[in-house]
Amino acid sequence: MTRIDLHCHSRASDGTLTPSELMRAGVAAGLDVMAITDHDTTGGWDEAAAARPAGLTLVRGAELSCRWYGVEPAIPLHLLAYLFDPAEPHLAADLLRMRTDRERRGEKIVELLRADGVDISWPEVHGYAAGGSVGRPHIAQALIRAGLVRTTNEAFASRWLGARYFVPKADLDVFEAVRAVRAAGGVPVFAHPNATVRGRIVPDKLIVDLAEAGLFGLEADHEDHSIEQRAHVRALAADLGLIVTGSSDFHGTHKTVQLGAFTTELAAYEKIVAAGTGVPILG
Ligand SMILES: [Zn+2]
Ligand SMILES: [Zn+2]
Repeated sequence: MTRIDLHCHSRASDGTLTPSELMRAGVAAGLDVMAITDHDTTGGWDEAAAARPAGLTLVRGAELSCRWYGVEPAIPLHLLAYLFDPAEPHLAADLLRMRTDRERRGEKIVELLRADGVDISWPEVHGYAAGGSVGRPHIAQALIRAGLVRTTNEAFASRWLGARYFVPKADLDVFEAVRAVRAAGGVPVFAHPNATVRGRIVPDKLIVDLAEAGLFGLEADHEDHSIEQRAHVRALAADLGLIVTGSSDFHGTHKTVQLGAFTTELAAYEKIVAAGTGVPILG
């Protein structure tokens, strides 16, 4: 059996393993295929490719922060993108804009905390991101270091980053993202589309429209989906002719889920590989 995990984060965004460590962890978890999908960045690709152990196939990808602006307030959602050409100018500009905004947002949150006398600094937080995209987990890390909270979860509670020190970020319009990924030879898959535990979800009608716009698949098997939600996503995908994936959304020790906790079927993976023309799989 081929074990395929298509949604994994490294320290290039908010995972706790470096891209090299992530590759080794993939082998140790018995994976045959692994995708690196950091938030809004391809910053971990080169290190992962260089460290890829023989026997592990690497799918290069990213998880794009998007928003559906069809309702007020707009609903945030995540779009997995596989095998796109990172040099394609339009998508590259989108990614750069999002990373710049993440930095701006991170700096703003640190400023707000410092104004309230919290002893953390932007260079410290930036350092935790290790050259990748700065996210709130890096600020959480600084709050833990400062002894103000014990865990990342605690840092995300409303008295800290969840509400009191919350600053919104500029996300991509989801239709724009689907088109840009396709134009860059990539394969867009909607991440955890029914995960009500994460907040508001989009209606099925939007997924119908996205399928028409070029969406390729839906992530069905994910720890944030209930059994019913997984079944619903599968049925919707079948209706729309979309593939379904399953994946861990591994973040190292920032989450409890383990690599390979959910996996993708070989046939779906092969369709992604056949459709992706931006960069090849490695291995
Ligand atoms: Zn996500
Ligand atoms: Zn993710």
